[in-house]
Amino acid sequence: MANKAYAEIGVIGGSGFYSFLDDVTELQVDTPYGPPSDSLFLGEIAGRRVAFLPRHGRGHHLPPHRINYRANLWALRSVGARQVLGPCAVGGLRPEYGPGTLLVPDQLVDRTKSRTGTYFDGLPLPDGKVPNVVHVSLADPYCPAGRSAALKAARGREWEPVDGGTLVVIEGPRFSTRAESSWHQAQGWSVVGMTGHPEAALARELELCYTSLTLVTDLDAGAESGEGVSQEDVLQVFAANVDRLREVLFDTVAALPSEGERDCLCVNALGGLDPGFDLP
Ligand SMILES: [Zn+2]
Repeated sequence: MANKAYAEIGVIGGSGFYSFLDDVTELQVDTPYGPPSDSLFLGEIAGRRVAFLPRHGRGHHLPPHRINYRANLWALRSVGARQVLGPCAVGGLRPEYGPGTLLVPDQLVDRTKSRTGTYFDGLPLPDGKVPNVVHVSLADPYCPAGRSAALKAARGREWEPVDGGTLVVIEGPRFSTRAESSWHQAQGWSVVGMTGHPEAALARELELCYTSLTLVTDLDAGAESGEGVSQEDVLQVFAANVDRLREVLFDTVAALPSEGERDCLCVNALGGLDPGFDLP
């Protein structure tokens, strides 16, 4: 029988993704950084053990800048997860990336302001261990194997994805001004979100594979000529696409390499350096 407290894959996303799975185990996990956004919900997809974590907490009470990203990634790793999928809603920065576009980014720009983006902050952990100063490479922030699994899964569901692009992450929770949005577009960036950082960076520091799947729910303020983004539009488009996004996620899970087959850059992100603490 499967170990109900174990999962090899983590998915950071809400109840729309796991609520109908059979035999889901709810697990409360604590971490040296405090509690994650919510319990982990563990189940099985295509014979793989998966842990779901509602990024904003159930009931969606945590704004993007209050999410305990360090606790979330740590909690997933502590139940065994080594590959993490991070679906999120974004705004499109080009007219051709309208609502319903699925984009699998290959680059990231951090424009957040108040978030702790590292485990290597020099502060002692509750067990007294002090992190060493370690600088990981984030040149390629997303797992290549995870990206190709996600692209293949989307194509298999006849949802032609945009292969690559830059996700710019803003602090939120407000949407961009027209000037900010126009500036993001002028840089050639593709989509704008509020949660992609520091998730990807923290995953890399824990030697986790991390893949972002972004669903465009609106055209950002500078890319359209109407009233600007409204929360109502975003929720509506997300709800209209959650079923097929779940199908793509599950097919991605099935297509991810098995633990023994992982041979991407993420696996050895610390390059053998001592982090100064024990990875969970
Ligand atoms: Zn990887």
